[in-house]
Amino acid sequence: MAEKKKFQAIKGTRDLLPPETELWNSVEQTAREVFGTFGFGEIRPPIFEPTELFARAVGGETDIVSKEMYSFEDHGSKGLTALRSLLLTPPRSITDQQSMWLYECFLLDFLSQLDLAMQNQTISKSPENLRAQQDLSTLAGELSQTRLRYSETNSGTDSEMFNKRMRKVSIFVLLINMGDELALRPEATASVCRAYIEHGMHALPQPVKLYYMGPMFRRERPQKGRYRQFYQIGAEVLEMVPPNQDPAKNIGKDAAVDAEVIEMVMAFFARLGLEGVKLEINSIGDRDCRPKYVELLRAELLKVKDKLGPDSQRRIETNPLRVLDSKLENEQGIIAGLPKIADHLCANCAGQYAEVKRQLNMRGVAYAENWRLVRGLDYYMRTTFEITALGLGSQNAVCGGGRYDGLVELLGGPPTKGIGFAIGEDRLILSLQEAGKGGAAQGRDVFVAWMGEKAQATAIAAAQKLRAAGFRVELPPVGQKFGKALGQADKLGARYALILGDDEVATGQWTVKTLADGSQTKMSEAEFLEMLRKGL
Ligand code: AMP
Repeated sequence: MAEKKKFQAIKGTRDLLPPETELWNSVEQTAREVFGTFGFGEIRPPIFEPTELFARAVGGETDIVSKEMYSFEDHGSKGLTALRSLLLTPPRSITDQQSMWLYECFLLDFLSQLDLAMQNQTISKSPENLRAQQDLSTLAGELSQTRLRYSETNSGTDSEMFNKRMRKVSIFVLLINMGDELALRPEATASVCRAYIEHGMHALPQPVKLYYMGPMFRRERPQKGRYRQFYQIGAEVLEMVPPNQDPAKNIGKDAAVDAEVIEMVMAFFARLGLEGVKLEINSIGDRDCRPKYVELLRAELLKVKDKLGPDSQRRIETNPLRVLDSKLENEQGIIAGLPKIADHLCANCAGQYAEVKRQLNMRGVAYAENWRLVRGLDYYMRTTFEITALGLGSQNAVCGGGRYDGLVELLGGPPTKGIGFAIGEDRLILSLQEAGKGGAAQGRDVFVAWMGEKAQATAIAAAQKLRAAGFRVELPPVGQKFGKALGQADKLGARYALILGDDEVATGQWTVKTLADGSQTKMSEAEFLEMLRKGL
């Protein structure tokens, strides 16, 4: 008998179920409506992309790229991957025939599987791959000859030769490109920029305003509000900088775009009735002034290095801005005394930051400034913002965003400005639930209680009509005694039970029971529909 295996959702992932999914749907519907009123259209990029896209956009040094991405090679052969790992890490030295023979078997097996994969076109027959394959075959022959000679001579020179060739194999194996390195997306801004370039969206009326929603994947330590598959709702505004235009110009215009994007998220949260919403903003400078500030910060941090924890000490080298993110109690006093970026912004950045604040005031958007707000992703510049909400404990950020001029160019497109945000939908939902705004159980408008063969035909026709008119109808697959049917209607939270028996079919007068008060009336199909439409 087959072993009973208990399958469970993978750690850090979860099933979203009714009635909670009602809330998810209504949040997403509200996003579509609100973003639509600001002129945004939806983009649905793929869930996986080349790993390189994220490495380039998000930054190879970030945790997201260096530790948390789910990446894989795009080919179907697990055998090849396993054999390749064996061949890539050969033993330091082999001096017995048996091990030599085994190693040869691995190589021959690898070559025959590679040949098959190339014939099936799961691995490319590129000139580089074909050359490496040829070289490996030659090496396999040489290895075999060396082993045979060694079996006769037992000489150290021959075993040394075998080991040398073995190391050569690992080099040629590396030259074979087995498939593209792909990754499940850890965020979607890189994909949106890639799509902007791929579809020549710079030729559309600018700016291009896009929103997206869907799952993202990061191998993080799961906890409340932090998952490995989580959902984001985000939006991006992209605008190509016309040739010869100095990107530093139009600072007022950029600030207005930033403020409108922030206003849109806040309008969305207000429409949802999200509680305890706090917006924090900051400017993290640009390519001119930020590096100078970072150096200053690094120098100051080095002076107090001994008083910092290991994470912050490491970050002094890798990314000093991230030290400002620290939540460690004993580091707070030190951080408070560090130089603040606002005092070191260049004239353009300072001007834009002041204008963003003025624009937010004009739009009636309340904010607090937080000079320690830096974002985890490399691509941000100037305006950055974060929004927190009630009831989320330590993971209380529901939205992060900022400006990323230059990212499209970094990915191979024309000089383009960009600003966007990503809302953590899981956390947004959690906060709404904490505030008692959870999804109501999905009841039924009508439960069709029928009995008898003739009644079934009428019941099916009635259900079809009611559903076509948009009502939620439960039609039991088999006839039931009315008492039992009414009990079930009650359990499902139905508003009405439509009782159809021989009598009702013969007269065309249906019996309608209102479950809330138990009252019962006879009426025609048209009258019943009318009553439902009026929401009585
Ligand atoms: P980021 O893309 O890192 O700027 O994150 C934007 C928002 O996504 C955050 O403010 C969170 O609300 C949400 N978020 C990020 N990572 C996770 C995660 N692992 N689980 C749930 N939500 C997340």
